[in-house]
Amino acid sequence: MSYLADTLWHRLAGPLGELDKSELGYLFLPNRHMPLLMRRRATMIVNRVRMFAFLFAVLTPLWSVIDFVVFPPSLWVTLALMRLLASAAFATLLICYRPSGNLFDAYRAIAVLFAIPTAFYVGSHTLLGTYQLSELSAAIGAGYAFLPFVLLAGLSVFPLTLIENVFISSPILLAQALAGYLSWSTLNWPSFAGSFWLLMLITGVSMTAGMSQLAFMTALVRQSVRDPLTGAFSRGSGEEMLELQLGLANRNQASITVAFIDVDHFKSINDRFGHEAGDKVLITLATHITAALRRVDILVRWGGEEFVVIMPNTDLAKARTAVERLCRLGLGTAPDGTPVTASIGLAERSIDGAGDWKALIEKADQRMYHAKHNGRDRVCFGAC
Ligand code: GH3
Ligand code: MG
Ligand code: MG
Repeated sequence: MSYLADTLWHRLAGPLGELDKSELGYLFLPNRHMPLLMRRRATMIVNRVRMFAFLFAVLTPLWSVIDFVVFPPSLWVTLALMRLLASAAFATLLICYRPSGNLFDAYRAIAVLFAIPTAFYVGSHTLLGTYQLSELSAAIGAGYAFLPFVLLAGLSVFPLTLIENVFISSPILLAQALAGYLSWSTLNWPSFAGSFWLLMLITGVSMTAGMSQLAFMTALVRQSVRDPLTGAFSRGSGEEMLELQLGLANRNQASITVAFIDVDHFKSINDRFGHEAGDKVLITLATHITAALRRVDILVRWGGEEFVVIMPNTDLAKARTAVERLCRLGLGTAPDGTPVTASIGLAERSIDGAGDWKALIEKADQRMYHAKHNGRDRVCFGAC
């Protein structure tokens, strides 16, 4: 049965080859994304919103030249004013919005980006409806009806989950359906049905494009986030998480402790048993640390045989108990059966007066060195 499921997965996973089976759910709902993916996605969405805003701020007033040629002056002037207004709104969005890493800010940016052309669309459509247009100007006027298509095609540049895509596209689709319903008596319904079907197809293609971007992004984040040998977080993502966690702790005046762990005499393990045996010791060490920690604690491989554990909402006393329990349980053994030991330094945000993560890590690193100088295989958490 599991063989069948695996085979099916491999067949189906072709187009989504980048993803692990466990990551498939990430494409549907945003709530289980890990914080780093969430932050990068939010940043990317806002950057793309700004790119679009720039493009539209420039292009929207340019079309006035065509309007000028084909429409009567009074209509042209009103449309030009509306275009300038829309362009100013796009420019404001571009200037005022910077990526914050917050997903709700990103949603708001998309909502504003879509609201501007929608308002323009409703305004211009209503306005054009009051004019009896000649053949050429009627053709240009009909072009204004294509805005929903542009919006829904534009959805493809955002790495969104299925549910987010549905939430964003359904108001536009519903508005289009409602417009058709309200003008039912005069509607050329086969042409309406045709264009509505096209709109749905474009939405589907855009959603697929956005979700495949998300799949690719998830795989890239996963690869850059983890250290391939031990599965612990890599240094870069560790620093990003320290920044995030310390910011949170500072804001909430919460405690946060970090442990700096350096394996004792690791070079001699490599020298005596070879590099591969050394690698195995590191893998076992990471497994032991992870097993002894809480789910919310974060293990980072800081350098070769140095690890950092980030313990959010943990004061020094609790961290000390946790680390001492870890040492009691053991960090694994060298190939000759001798126990692997480590020197560990602890530092806590408020006690050590560390305003940023660099100061906190430096303090923990200093204490780790104290532990080394005092004989190794020990934890240093104060003036040791
Ligand atoms: P101390 O007790 O003072 O910490 O001594 P040490 O031997 O652990 O310290 P040192 O920093 O001199 O040695 C660290 C060694 O870790 C040197 C380096 O070759 C080894 N190392 C770094 N990364 C890896 C790795 O990925 N795999 C293996 N097998 N060894 C590594
Ligand atoms: Mg070292
Ligand atoms: Mg060492």
